[in-house]
Amino acid sequence: MERRYNGSAWHDRFLPRLTSAEVQALPKEEALVVLPIGAVEQHGSHLPVYTDTLLAESVLDEACKYVPERYAVWLLAPMPYGISSEHSGRAGTISLSIPTLQGVLMDIAQGVRESGFRRLLLFNGHGGNSALLNLMAREVRLKTGLMVFCLNVGGLTIEEGLITEKERLLGIHGGDYETSLIMASYPEWVREERLGAEYPRLEEHSRYLRFQNAGFAWTIDDVSESGILGDARTASADKGKLLYDRQGRQVADILMELTSFEIGKLKQQ
Ligand SMILES: [Zn+2]
Repeated sequence: MERRYNGSAWHDRFLPRLTSAEVQALPKEEALVVLPIGAVEQHGSHLPVYTDTLLAESVLDEACKYVPERYAVWLLAPMPYGISSEHSGRAGTISLSIPTLQGVLMDIAQGVRESGFRRLLLFNGHGGNSALLNLMAREVRLKTGLMVFCLNVGGLTIEEGLITEKERLLGIHGGDYETSLIMASYPEWVREERLGAEYPRLEEHSRYLRFQNAGFAWTIDDVSESGILGDARTASADKGKLLYDRQGRQVADILMELTSFEIGKLKQQ
């Protein structure tokens, strides 16, 4: 029988794998609990709708390879759904409403707190979730007292040369970056014969508005016919492997730092 939870992250760092008594007995002072959050939404004609959840899981999985055992980093079961309203109306998109995700996040955080933990990282694989996660991080901190952190896969540094500047700015959905990562981790999930390219004419029409800052509200129907933003034709599994390696190491460094970060020490004495 093929099993789903393979690999070191799921063997050594998957919190739900433990019994209640084992969770109770864990040292909590420095433990970091990580909630991966993804989305189920259309990703063009070549990528599965599960892409963002797979990416969040896989980057974490890679990161765990570089976290020595002494660091208490614990993964929760991934939240597969997110806020995908910008893709609503396209088949396969299943979006939570904003109040639903707010409620789910708060409930999960309460459980983390009640289990005795002090630190929670919201590890996000879908750009459409990030605004709400930042807001909710503070709400959770206020309600539970947890230290709460947010990390977006899309915000990680990509080294010069791996992805073109145009792709970096505009290739935010189903382009070179995401396609390369899925090719490297789930090659049989990619429809290689249907790799496409489409960029919105944003630079022609605005000097200031971009997806990253000076933003604007958009839905996929405003900016793309095919459902993608970016160029998937330049994607490759080799590029994906390099991206996993670089991003895994970055995330590992951040995870390790967060196990000793103390928010109570930030104020000048
Ligand atoms: Zn995506």
